[in-house]
Amino acid sequence: MKIYNTLINKKEEFVPVENGKVKMYVCGPTVYNYFHIGNARPLIFFDVVKNFFEYIGNEVTLVRNVTDIDDKLINRSLEEKIPVSEIAEKYTKAFFADCKALEINPADHHPRATEYIGEMIELIKQLEEKKYAYEVNGDVYFSVSKVEKYGKLSGKKLEDLQAGARVEANKQKKHPADFTLWKRAKPNEPKWTSPWGDGRPGWHTECVVMSRKLLGGTFDIHGGGIDLIFPHHENEIAQAEATNNKKLANYWMHNGYLNIEGEKMSKSLNNFFTARDILKKYNAEAIRFFFLSKHYRSPIDFNENIIKESSQAVKNFYNTIKNADYLTIRNNELEYSEIHLKHKNNFTTAMNDDFNTAKAISVLFDITKAYNKTKDPAFIHLLIELGNVLGFFLDLDVKLSNDLSDISSELIELFINYRNRLKKEKNWEMADAIRNDLKKMGIVLKDTPEGTDWSIEK
Ligand SMILES: [Zn+2]
Repeated sequence: MKIYNTLINKKEEFVPVENGKVKMYVCGPTVYNYFHIGNARPLIFFDVVKNFFEYIGNEVTLVRNVTDIDDKLINRSLEEKIPVSEIAEKYTKAFFADCKALEINPADHHPRATEYIGEMIELIKQLEEKKYAYEVNGDVYFSVSKVEKYGKLSGKKLEDLQAGARVEANKQKKHPADFTLWKRAKPNEPKWTSPWGDGRPGWHTECVVMSRKLLGGTFDIHGGGIDLIFPHHENEIAQAEATNNKKLANYWMHNGYLNIEGEKMSKSLNNFFTARDILKKYNAEAIRFFFLSKHYRSPIDFNENIIKESSQAVKNFYNTIKNADYLTIRNNELEYSEIHLKHKNNFTTAMNDDFNTAKAISVLFDITKAYNKTKDPAFIHLLIELGNVLGFFLDLDVKLSNDLSDISSELIELFINYRNRLKKEKNWEMADAIRNDLKKMGIVLKDTPEGTDWSIEK
């Protein structure tokens, strides 16, 4: 198997630390908000990475942390006038609920940063003893100039970072790229006692401590979005190697950006969608298909047409499965012959090549075509077996027996079209009646300049 390793900027053969075992750490959410649709990409992709490693016979340990103390949480707590711990609790719960709705398997460990503060203080103490850290007025910084190869993951150079530093840069730091290990608490902020006074750990320290604690000195894969390469992952490497001179992880995997209709997602552009928003209109498998139909390292553009196409593609798979009467044939003992194994081999070859899920999905299409031609039920078994690796067609019993959701969304769209025609004819009374009747059923319409949106009120 080949994996693209950001550390060397090319694909290389994957060799686990321990044969047959794969240990992975993927940076998880900072729980100050509902996560946005871009954040769903690493969640879905690394879910598939884990499934595939298991499918080819490995025992996988996946750790996905929860950052429950951070400036963003503190700011949110000031805005909402709710204690930080309550903000963390609220959005941690929401995170798990949204992951479940997206049909993402739970990780093996979900460490919360606040449960490891003692270990974080220990790490900072070690860095201080080894002269990698210095304290100024209760803040502790990591001195990047002490690291010989600082920038080896991101390719950044210290001189360039110095030159690019902003004028208002923090005067306490010896070098503008020095990063915070421990932050002194301001009044009314959450705080823990430390040798440098009351405060809290920095984000980069949180992940290095939790990953090493749960996966050991050097583990196999560290993953996350491309935006985490610098400074977050660079700084994790710097701390890890400064303390024990060992690599933190052997392979660094990063997924590409998500754009919305060609633009970067941002609150100011008013194109910010949470995964929750999208799940109101499209099901988990349509969203999964959308992400997996593109290679994980490529940027991906989210727009209404593509997600509709994804939704249709998933529906087509389900139609094939239903027409094959899967619930009846599923227990038939069927053996794969050479032709089935050829498709299976195409699938694993695609996945072994740096998780080429786009190609793997095209194999699912090939299998569907082969089924339609031959009506050989073994193709349906294979379609579901390989689809499951990508996270499709799970809980088929439930899904095939409660298959009303697609029809209901089509019916709602139909009502919206009629209502729009009534509005054009200035028949406000009927148009309002449709809206009010749908509201009574928990379906809320919202008129926007681009058309009418709908959502299910929960
Ligand atoms: Zn992290």
